[in-house]
Amino acid sequence: AGLQIAIDGPASAGKSTVAKLVAKQLHYTYCDTGAMYRALTLAAMQAQVDLKDEAAVLAVLAKITISFKPGEPEQQVFVNEQEVTQAIRQPDVTNNVSTVAALAGVRQQLVRHQQKIAAAGSIVMDGRDIGTAVLPQAPVKIYLVASVAERAQRRYAENIRKGIDTPLTVLQHEIEVRDKKDSTRKVSPLTQAKDAVLVDTTALSIEQVVAKISAITAQ
Ligand code: C5P
Repeated sequence: AGLQIAIDGPASAGKSTVAKLVAKQLHYTYCDTGAMYRALTLAAMQAQVDLKDEAAVLAVLAKITISFKPGEPEQQVFVNEQEVTQAIRQPDVTNNVSTVAALAGVRQQLVRHQQKIAAAGSIVMDGRDIGTAVLPQAPVKIYLVASVAERAQRRYAENIRKGIDTPLTVLQHEIEVRDKKDSTRKVSPLTQAKDAVLVDTTALSIEQVVAKISAITAQ
C-alpha cells in the first residue's frame, strides 16, 4: 500500500481545501468521503425515502454507483451517470446528510468503498472517521479545527462567491447542529484519533495549513 494521510475534523474547518492541495503537492490521490455521504443523501432525497429508514436508504445505495472523475478546479462527483458535483453542496443536502451518515449499514458500506480506494495507492482522505475507523493504521493523521465563528465566516464567504446569501448566524447554527449530530451518533462519531495531530486553523491561511501538514508528513 502507499502512504496514507487522514484528515478529520468538524464541518467547514477547511479539510477538503487543504486535503486537495496537499494531495496535489505530493501527487497523491484525493478522496472526499463527505462527498459520498452527500451523494447518497441526494439520491435518497430524490427517491423520496425516509432518511431515517435504514433499509430504505440501503435499498437506494444498492441501486447507485458513486464515483469521482479527476478535474480542475475540483473533481467531479457522479451518481451513476448523473453529475452531482454542485447538487450535493445544496443547503438541503448539507442539512440532511448527518441523518444518513448516522445509519450503521450505510457507514459499513461506504467505509468499505473508501478502504478499497485507499488500497489502490497513496492517498489523502478527508472526513470525520478516517483516522479512527477507515484508515486506523494511517501514519499521518491530522485533526483540523477552527472556531465556529471563523468556520461560519468562511462558509459565508464561500456562499457569497456562489451567489447564496444566508445570514451568518444561520450558517453558524447549521454548523453547530451538524457537528453535534456527527459527534453524538452511535457509530464512529466525530472525534480526534489518539495519534492525530491537532491543527487549529482559526488564525492560519490556507497556505500555512498546507505547509504545516506537509511538515508533519515529512517528519
Ligand atoms: O465533509 P462534508 O461536510 O462534506 O461531510 C458531510 C457529512 O457527511 C458530515 O457532516 C457527516 O455527517 C458525513 N460524513 C461522515 N463521515 C465521513 C465524512 C462525512 O459521517 N468520513
